[in-house]
Amino acid sequence: MSASPPTPGRPLKVCIVIPCYNEEGVLGHTVNVLLAQLDSTAQAGLSTTDSFLCLVDDGSRDATWAEIEQLAREFPRVQGLKLSSNFGHQNAVIAGLFTQRPNADILISIDADLQDDVDVITEMLRKHHEGKRVVYGVREDREVDSFGKQIAARVFYSMIKWMNDRAIKGHADFRSADSRVVADLERFNEANVYLRGLFPLIGYSSAEVRYVRKERHAGESKYSYRKLMSLAWQGITSFTTTPLKLVLYLGLLMLVICFGIGAWIVWALIVGTAIQGWASTVVLIMLFSAMNMIGLGIIGEYVGKIYREVKQRPRYIIDRSTQGE
Ligand code: UDP
Ligand code: MG
Repeated sequence: MSASPPTPGRPLKVCIVIPCYNEEGVLGHTVNVLLAQLDSTAQAGLSTTDSFLCLVDDGSRDATWAEIEQLAREFPRVQGLKLSSNFGHQNAVIAGLFTQRPNADILISIDADLQDDVDVITEMLRKHHEGKRVVYGVREDREVDSFGKQIAARVFYSMIKWMNDRAIKGHADFRSADSRVVADLERFNEANVYLRGLFPLIGYSSAEVRYVRKERHAGESKYSYRKLMSLAWQGITSFTTTPLKLVLYLGLLMLVICFGIGAWIVWALIVGTAIQGWASTVVLIMLFSAMNMIGLGIIGEYVGKIYREVKQRPRYIIDRSTQGE
């Protein structure tokens, strides 16, 4: 069942969800900047004065939770949720969205390091007042990221776009959605969550707002290349079965090559040229074994996903909240 959509015209109650993993160095600054932004959207009549922030501690090992508790005491418009361990960025966002969905008209997610332009929030809320249901933040360029990360991102977005044409190029997890869209998201029970793919799947009228990505405010990226690769792989295997089809195409291609080689051998026999050496045989065996292994690997990946899905494990567990247990 879906909640009713917010009434356009009146100020909207906004909740900004911020996933935090070992972010003790940035939180104070982030909270100040975001509260100031909410003040400015309230002044513009776009948001209510009781709009608030929800900081989700994703099992941090540093003083992040202590900091969140401190900020919640200091600012009535700051709430905190502590997950029982590190469930990952996507699940931390989901924990915040689902917990706060009944308490807000619009739910925005943004990273703790404020690499995304907070001024764009004003534009996002304008779009909601115009009747849009989801607004995607889209990065104009990635100059501040390391060269390796830029290349990785470019390859990743092109691949995702090729395999899933609903994907939005340059969109990460900076987006706003109304509470009804979040209620619809709750109906997607999958364990392998990839929010960038799920929101476009929900549908409704959406808009994009563009911004230039900034440097991380403090600390280091919490996305190691390993986590980044795993997110990319999630984006592909949770949304498309293209890799499975590729295995089939590859098989067909190998078949054609086999026919070619077969014809060549027959030709060699007819004209009586050189005796076939073992090298070509070994190479062929190795090639086909490799193809088989790749195919099995890809299929295994999907079987693994099915295994995780059928278990229906919770995607996050909340340890405590600044609002009480
Ligand atoms: N994050 C999280 N759990 C994790 C890893 C990251 O909640 O396991 C949060 C992190 O605190 C930040 C956001 O996800 O708010 C994005 O991470 P980061 O800025 O390090 O990624 P990058 O911008 O380098 O891709
Ligand atoms: Mg970042």
